[in-house]
Amino acid sequence: MEGEAGERVELTLTRRHLGALLLLCAAVLSLAAPPAADAAPAVSDIRAWTNEIYTRVAIDTGDEVSWQANSLRADPERNLPPRIFIDIRGAGIRDEILHKPVEVRNGLLRQIRAGRFDRDTVRVVIDLERESTYRVFALPGPFRIIVDIDGEGEIPALPNSPGSVAAVPSPEDPVPSPARKPRVRVMIDPGHGGKDPGAIGRTGLKEKDVVLEIGRRIREKLARSGEFDVRMTRDEDVFIPLEERTAMANKGRVDVFVSLHINASRNRKAEGFSTYVLSRGASNREDLELAARENGVPVGKLQGVKFIIDDMFTGARKNESLRLAKTVNDAVVRHVSSRYPGVHSTGLKQAPFYVLVGARMTAVLVEASFISNSREEARLRESSYLDGIADGVVEAVRYYGQNGILAHSDY
Ligand SMILES: [Zn+2]
Repeated sequence: MEGEAGERVELTLTRRHLGALLLLCAAVLSLAAPPAADAAPAVSDIRAWTNEIYTRVAIDTGDEVSWQANSLRADPERNLPPRIFIDIRGAGIRDEILHKPVEVRNGLLRQIRAGRFDRDTVRVVIDLERESTYRVFALPGPFRIIVDIDGEGEIPALPNSPGSVAAVPSPEDPVPSPARKPRVRVMIDPGHGGKDPGAIGRTGLKEKDVVLEIGRRIREKLARSGEFDVRMTRDEDVFIPLEERTAMANKGRVDVFVSLHINASRNRKAEGFSTYVLSRGASNREDLELAARENGVPVGKLQGVKFIIDDMFTGARKNESLRLAKTVNDAVVRHVSSRYPGVHSTGLKQAPFYVLVGARMTAVLVEASFISNSREEARLRESSYLDGIADGVVEAVRYYGQNGILAHSDY
């Protein structure tokens, strides 16, 4: 489905969607390997990020499992709410999870509970407060099942003409006053962190440290203007799973998501800047290998989310992301070029990055230079180089905000 009309149709769960979802689950199921007989995987954690119109639930199993998702409408006679349930076969469950339902009760989600459905099956049940659209997919390495739930109510009307509104008000905002200028919410996502250093240069420079420094500079520069509400997925050297970064942006109802990375290649001569948007595939082997590395999985494991990417990343949101990615890349190259000669740009590109899957706003991923290239690694240690990158991102986000093309976030 393309465009806003298509996206609005998806706001309630229909038989048709359920059918598509079952097909999807069947497809995923067929990809899943049977569990190993000796060490059965187990549901080790259930994590959730939620507000009254959005919820992401992550079910951790560590090893790959077979699973199937389904849903049931409310049953008033038995006093049961609408439910989504995920059956996980051949898996155990940690005792603490068995006896501890996660209570939410925020208007969208009532609670999440888990139990043994039969000897071989663990069932995770999500009790909803109202019927909602949902999508389920799995990410490998470590294996986790992700459930994204879209609440149907309280979604502000989208303007009909692009450029007419600078930002969509969110239900969290106070009562709108005509004099109040909406602030654009930006989430800066420095990649990697903690136990995950990202790519490492020949002299030992770590991607996680460089992108955190760039992220802090972007935040400071953006915040200075007063037009932006700037957040970061991490502001210290900590590990945050990819699906949590997306969930933080969705839960925070940000308008723009910028994930920051530094590229690396076996070809030590590879150099320059590129900015990516999400896509189910990549146009060449290098981009596929890059996405696999950023996702923390082998190239062969990238396939599982193809369907979900096609389904979720369409229409206005995709177009806006393409537009922002091009603006970011052009601006970064221009700013860095003014201080450093011979800057190379590989431009706007597309690849299946997990951190962008399910993002409900304009979302891009910047690969700012190659840490595997000696000259660029040296430059990444220089403050003025990092400033050039930050200035480029800031200029692009400001341009994007000022041109009023932020009306397509799903809030
Ligand atoms: Zn990275």
